[in-house]
Amino acid sequence: FKLEEKKKRPIQKNPSNSKDIPKDVPYLLIGGGTASFTAFRAIKSVDPKAKVLMITNENFYPYMRPPLSKEIWFNEDKELVKKKAFKQWNGSERSLFYEPEEFYTDCTSLMEAPNGGVAVARGWTVKKLDVNEKFVTLDDGTEIRFGKCLLATGAKPKLLPVFQAAKLNEKTSDLVKIYRDIHDFEDAYNLFEKSADVAVVGGGFLGSELACAMARKDAKGNKNVYQIFKEGGNMGKILPEYLSAWTTNKVKNEGVKVIADSEVVALKEKNKKLELTLNDGNTLLVDYAVIAVGVEANTDLADESGLEVDPELGGYLVNTELQARSDIYVAGDCACFYDTKLGRRRFEHHDHAVVTGRLAGENMAGARKPYLHQSMFWSDLGPDVGYEAIGIVDSTLPTVAVFAKSEKKTASKTLENENKDAKIENAVVEEEQTEKGEKRLAKSVKVSESGDEDFNKGVIFYLKDDIVVGVVMWNVFNKIGVARQVLMDHRKYEDLNEVAKLFTIHED
Ligand code: FAD
Ligand code: NAD
Ligand code: NAD
Repeated sequence: FKLEEKKKRPIQKNPSNSKDIPKDVPYLLIGGGTASFTAFRAIKSVDPKAKVLMITNENFYPYMRPPLSKEIWFNEDKELVKKKAFKQWNGSERSLFYEPEEFYTDCTSLMEAPNGGVAVARGWTVKKLDVNEKFVTLDDGTEIRFGKCLLATGAKPKLLPVFQAAKLNEKTSDLVKIYRDIHDFEDAYNLFEKSADVAVVGGGFLGSELACAMARKDAKGNKNVYQIFKEGGNMGKILPEYLSAWTTNKVKNEGVKVIADSEVVALKEKNKKLELTLNDGNTLLVDYAVIAVGVEANTDLADESGLEVDPELGGYLVNTELQARSDIYVAGDCACFYDTKLGRRRFEHHDHAVVTGRLAGENMAGARKPYLHQSMFWSDLGPDVGYEAIGIVDSTLPTVAVFAKSEKKTASKTLENENKDAKIENAVVEEEQTEKGEKRLAKSVKVSESGDEDFNKGVIFYLKDDIVVGVVMWNVFNKIGVARQVLMDHRKYEDLNEVAKLFTIHED
């Protein structure tokens, strides 16, 4: 099943004829996303006159996706939405596009441009990659030779069988949406205005952010925004259970009607609306549903190219220099890389695309740098929930968390006791015996100074064999550097309360 075939949107090939695309280039970038764009910038910084050809099957020049589930929904000015811009956290206006059209070199003049540049062939799909003879084949059969090639094909939304069936059914096809690109945003955004009831399926990053953004857009509360997912709470795959439950309440306060512990088992059309049947037999009638049940690495080019894909994590296997074969590099969502501290990984976040794209670009231009950096990610769910994270953050791991007191209590505490670093007392530690008889943390523990259920601000450590492998900074910002150092140390800590103090969670 090819989703593309069901998308009723015209692909505008630009240039329209492949005769206008250069046939032999020193640098070829496959994909037009963030990883590809940052690779271009890095190539240019090492090799200032580089001639770079980017091929993307989207209609657009490179743009960032994060605001599509957040800021762009909050625009009050419709003109901003039209021109694909948004208001940043500091109030300034910013475009989704990394650079305006004028920045790019025309495909027809790239090879003659004295200072080089990047040309973007849009609406074109690379169908084959020959890693031995070093050329790619486009969808019309055109072959393009390259010196170095980057695979930055990203990821594509997963569709479970029940949603696939609905997508293939003429009556329900248009009522079931996936959400990855600018067209998907426009589609969901424009329909939202005309709808009374909308469902978002999925409790992960996209489902949770989008449901909150929609509820916030409907400030008057005239619509029903449902969010359905199988976990017990929002972000249940990432956050420890108690924090996921707390977050779910915040999401509900934002106006989202959360239906947790539920799965959609059937979909059908009813009076031009979409009827969702849940596993408990209940039904829900909505104008449309957005499906956000995860993505899979886009490795369509693997079979014919003979490149190896990780059987469990997906993604092209690369070494620490992000190289799959000589002259072939991979970056972003589609790379399965070797993290020298944490093992084989794949990471589906913006900053990772930025950092790996940059490193792959530098290596394509001759550097031989290893990828030793730990990239970060962040998310926002309404005004009370914002977090940044690093490393392996997986709710099946044991965690230790330290939370600050609520503002009111911190104030009174500070009056009573000048020592903010006073010993934290309310830790409940559950341990298990390992085979060697050592004690090891078995379950998630939360440590709150006040002992109450106040999780406004804190730091959560994720452990494997008692070693910190991931950190979530909960409403704590600009501490990524500290977290990175904790991961780099890669050792057992006697007292994580002491480590938590480095994050100064008691200060604003
Ligand atoms: P992509 O951005 O997926 O780009 C890949 C490109 O390759 C696409 O343009 C695709 O069309 C093209 N392509 C694929 N195959 C071919 C081919 N054969 N020929 C030609 N072109 C091809 N991450 C965060 O850290 N924070 C966030 O807040 C956040 N918010 C997000 C919100 C949304 C709505 C979405 C969808 C994602 C969000 N992410 C966020 C994730 C982040 O956007 C991705 O991790 C990032 O886009 C990955 O970049 P990439 O360059 O690897 O891949
Ligand atoms: P950028 O140039 O927008 O950001 C540069 C720096 O500004 C970041 O490293 C961060 O420290 C700060 N920053 C940006 N957005 C912020 C926010 N919402 N809250 C607090 N600090 C923020 O980086 P980019 O990679 O071009 O960004 C692309 C998109 O990612 C934009 O939508 C941007 O708003 C978002 N972003 C958000 C955060 C965050 O929320 N912590 C961090 C980085 C980027
Ligand atoms: P995700 O992996 O975060 O969440 C997937 C969700 O799908 C799960 O929480 C679960 O509820 C649901 N699911 C998975 N399999 C299911 C099944 N068999 N039955 C029922 N439900 C099932 O992915 P997403 O939320 O779809 O996000 C898409 C991509 O965009 C991801 O790569 C994500 O990292 C990225 N993204 C990141 C951010 C961010 O970093 N802030 C924001 C938006 C999107």
